[in-house]
Amino acid sequence: MQRLLVVDDDPSMVRLLSRLLAGMARIHFATSGEDALLQIRQNPPDLVLLDAEMPGLGGYETCRQLKADPALVHVPVIFVTAHTDTASETHALTIGAVDFIPKPLNPPVVQARVRTHLALKRQSDVLRRLTATDALTGIANRRAFDDGLQLEWRRALRSHAPLSLLMVDVDYFKRFNDTYGHPAGDACLRAVARVLAQTARRAGDLVARYGGEEFALFLPATNAFDAFRLGESLCQGVAALGIPHAASSAAAHVTVSVGVATLVLPCDGAEPPRAACHDCDQAPHCLAAPEALLALADEALYAAKADGRARVVDRVGIVGQGYEADA
Ligand code: GH3
Ligand code: MG
Ligand code: MG
Ligand code: MG
Repeated sequence: MQRLLVVDDDPSMVRLLSRLLAGMARIHFATSGEDALLQIRQNPPDLVLLDAEMPGLGGYETCRQLKADPALVHVPVIFVTAHTDTASETHALTIGAVDFIPKPLNPPVVQARVRTHLALKRQSDVLRRLTATDALTGIANRRAFDDGLQLEWRRALRSHAPLSLLMVDVDYFKRFNDTYGHPAGDACLRAVARVLAQTARRAGDLVARYGGEEFALFLPATNAFDAFRLGESLCQGVAALGIPHAASSAAAHVTVSVGVATLVLPCDGAEPPRAACHDCDQAPHCLAAPEALLALADEALYAAKADGRARVVDRVGIVGQGYEADA
């Protein structure tokens, strides 16, 4: 069942709305903007009915803060207010509300609007999931990976935590297709994707098909040592599938090569890094953006290929000087 959050400082209004909308969604309520934001961040609802006039954090400011958070920007907000002039309505819509319900409430109108917006939310959830999913393997696609990486990069800088990125490429996969056929190649990619998804399963980890027979993973708050070990688990997991690959020059079964890049914070900063960065004095790479971390992982992958395949190579990078954590 979808979840609806009713926000109003007037408890009788909360009760009235809850009664009107019971059965359409599971109703939660908050009696202040502060409490609403807390609840929304903890567990985003499918729709928010937001009172415009509340003491403390008002409805408009609550909405503005919600819409400023990339993780919550998709949560639809309907304003409920006695100020029904054009300026108020326009203001609500410009700060990101999807609709506007006047007080005093007209029950059938409220019910109809809420029903419409819950249905729209259900549809947009389906579309969002589809645009983020790779059709062949069912894991995240490149778009989802790129979007997620931007967010994780900023989070890593804010939280002083390391961030690891792994590029995984199937070895001699062209020969695999040539030997066993394209459908067998597709089945192989699905099996590899399953292993990757089962191996990197901490909250925040993302496994994506980056393109063709190449996969990418990011592991938030994971240092170089642990990322390398996870890379080895990926190699072992894929090898353990035991998919025969007679044409491979690396092994008799399907294998992958892994390039690991870990972003750590410089140790000479005023603030000591809270996360482990065991080898940052030997980190020659200065990274200015998420794309640089990706390029570093790619370089490591290339080295793993050149080194004989079916292995992991890692690199460590520090964040470029002058990079603003909150930029
Ligand atoms: P290397 O060990 O250096 O990675 O060699 P490789 O043959 O794996 O690399 P190459 O880039 O030469 O070939 C990649 C192959 O992956 C070629 C392409 O046909 C195949 N491929 C890409 N996407 C798919 C797909 O969706 N399904 C199947 N079956 N094959 C795919
Ligand atoms: Mg009020
Ligand atoms: Mg390959
Ligand atoms: Mg490739």
